Formats: sequence, structure tokens, C-alpha cells
Amino acid sequence: MNLDDLYNMIPSVPCPPGCITCCKKFGIPSRTPEEDLRIKAFLREHGISGKLNDFELSDSDNTCPYVTTRGCAIYPVRPFICRLYGTAPNYLCIENVRPITMLSPEEEEELLFLYRSIGK
Ligand code: SF4
Ligand code: SF4
Repeated sequence: MNLDDLYNMIPSVPCPPGCITCCKKFGIPSRTPEEDLRIKAFLREHGISGKLNDFELSDSDNTCPYVTTRGCAIYPVRPFICRLYGTAPNYLCIENVRPITMLSPEEEEELLFLYRSIGK
């Protein structure tokens, strides 16, 4: 199993277009070294550098540096935790948006276990 296999096991959250609420709440998302390399390569390939946020940050000190008014600047390579958010009992969406099928507590635990195993 690799990272992409793991990502494919996570349900999709039907986020309303333009919603970036969670991206403004939890700061820099955690990532494994492999995810960090993917993000850096993506930023390089797309010539993205410097300050990404293009909206007022005064309402939150915890805004992810990759969020813009147009959404996530690194969406194709966003890390596991961003994908898991909203899909699992311990990562409920603060806007109460849910996937068709939520992960069970056991599935959440299993995915986190696999993620940590892959990240080693
Ligand atoms: S997970 Fe929830 S808060 Fe985050 S973008 Fe989707 S709907 Fe918005
Ligand atoms: S990496 Fe993207 S999806 Fe994750 S918190 Fe930042 S802007 Fe949101």
C-alpha cells in the first residue's frame, strides 16, 4: 500500500463550492516527509512561492498557508489529514457537512494506523 492507495480509501466530503472554513481554523496541516516532498514539488512545478493567502487573515491566526479565496492552492497534493477531515468521527466537519457514508471509529483508527505505518 502506498499513499495514493490510502487516499483512495477516504470518502469524499461534498463541500459546498468555495467553503474554506476548516482551512482557516487548523493552521499548517501535518504531513509526512513524503507528503512534504510532494507539496514542495507541486509548488515548484507550478511556480508557487511566497505568501499564498489572498484574503484578510485578521479573523484567524490559524489559517493554512495554502488556502486562497479560490480554495486550496495545493489541492491535488493536499495531505492525508485534509482528506480525512469531515469523514471520520474524530474529524467532524464544523459546517456539519458529511460524506454519504462516514468512516466508523474502527475504520478511522485503521486509516490512521496505515498512515503512520506508511509515513515511517
Ligand atoms: S470539510 Fe467542512 S468546513 Fe471543510 S471545506 Fe468541507 S464543508 Fe467546509
Ligand atoms: S492544505 Fe489545502 S485542504 Fe489542507 S488545510 Fe490547507 S488549504 Fe485546506
